[in-house]
Amino acid sequence: MRLKLFIPGPTEVRDEILRAMANPLIGHRSKEFSQLYAKVQPKLQKALYTKNIVFISTSSSTGLMESAVRNCSNKRIASFICGAFSKRWHQIAVANGKEADKYEVEWGKPITAEMVDSALATGKYDAITLVHNETSVGLMNPLEEIAEVMKKYPDVMFLVDAVSSMMGVKIETDKLGIDVLLAGVQKAWALPPGLAVAAVSEKALKKAETVENRGYYFDFLTFLKYHNKNQTPTTPTIPHIYALDLQLDRIFEEGLDARFARHHEMAEYTRNWAKKYFALFPEPGYESETLTCIKNTRGVSIVDLNNELGKRGMTLSNGYGKMKEETFRIAHMGDLTVGEVKALTANIEDILGL
Ligand SMILES: *Cc1c(COP(=O)(O)O)cnc(C)c1O
Repeated sequence: MRLKLFIPGPTEVRDEILRAMANPLIGHRSKEFSQLYAKVQPKLQKALYTKNIVFISTSSSTGLMESAVRNCSNKRIASFICGAFSKRWHQIAVANGKEADKYEVEWGKPITAEMVDSALATGKYDAITLVHNETSVGLMNPLEEIAEVMKKYPDVMFLVDAVSSMMGVKIETDKLGIDVLLAGVQKAWALPPGLAVAAVSEKALKKAETVENRGYYFDFLTFLKYHNKNQTPTTPTIPHIYALDLQLDRIFEEGLDARFARHHEMAEYTRNWAKKYFALFPEPGYESETLTCIKNTRGVSIVDLNNELGKRGMTLSNGYGKMKEETFRIAHMGDLTVGEVKALTANIEDILGL
C-alpha cells in the first residue's frame, strides 16, 4: 500500500511531479539543458526572495552544509546547536578541518539573537552556522532577530540551513542578508530526494576566493564558473530539474503567500490538536511551522501507533534519536493540505481511543 507521508522528509510527492521525473534525458552539456537551467534560475530566485545565484547541487542537503562551511571560513566558525542537525553541522565543519566552536542550548530551546551577538562580539569568527528549523525537535529559531544582529557583523558569513523550512515558511534571503541559504528538495519543496539548492551571496563567493582547500565536488567557484554557462560542474540529476521546474510553476500558481499561509494553518491545527491530547515539545513561541514535535505524555507506543496507521495508509515520525519514544513528530509540509492532516489526527484518535 502507498503510505501518505507525514514524516519530515521525504514528503509526499504528487503524481504529476513523479511523472515529470520520467521525461526523456538530455545531455548536460547540450543547449537544451542550458535552456532548462536558465529557465529554472529566475524562478528559484523569486521563490527564495533573492538576486543571488542559486546553485543546484546533485546531493542531499548535507552536501551543501559541507560546501557552506568548506567555502566560507578560513578563520573560525561559531556553530549554534539546538538539536541533531545543528550538531551535525558542527561535526561537518570539524571533519573538514575547520576551526569551529559549539554554542549549545538544551533541546527544545531556541538560539537567541543575544547568544549570537555575544559570540560574535569576541571577534573570533568569520562564519556562523544556524539551522533555521531544527527538525529533530520541531523548533524554529528566530531568524529575523538573528539576522538583525548579523547586520552588525558584515564580515561574518551567515550560513543558514533551511532544509525543513524552505518553501514552507517565507524566508526573504536578501532582506535578511543570508550568505548561504540551503535546502534539499525532499522536504517542504515536496520533490523526491537527491537534489539540493543554495542561494549564495556575492560576499560568500568573494570569501571563497580567499579560502584554500575548498574541495572539488562542492567548490563554489567551480559552481560559479559553470553557472555562467547555465550548467552544473558535473552531471546533475536532470530528472529532478524537470520536476523542480514544474513544481516551481505549481508553487507560483498557488502563490507563495498562499503556500506559507497553508503551512501556517496546518501548523496551527496540529498544535491545537496536540495540546488537546498531548503537549508540545519546544519552548512556546518557537514551534515549527512545518512539523510539530509532540511530547508523548500518554506514554503510547509510537511504534504500535505507526503500525496501525500504516494499515490505514499513512505514517508519521517517531522522535529523533534519543527522543524516539518520548516524542513523536507530525510533518505538515510540502503539498499536504489541512484536510489531509485532519484525516491523520482523526485516525490517531480512533486508534488510541481518544
Ligand atoms: C533533513 C535535514 C537535514 C539533512 O538532510 P539530507 O537531505 O538528508 O542531507 C539537514 N538539516 C535539517 C534541518 C534537516 O531537516
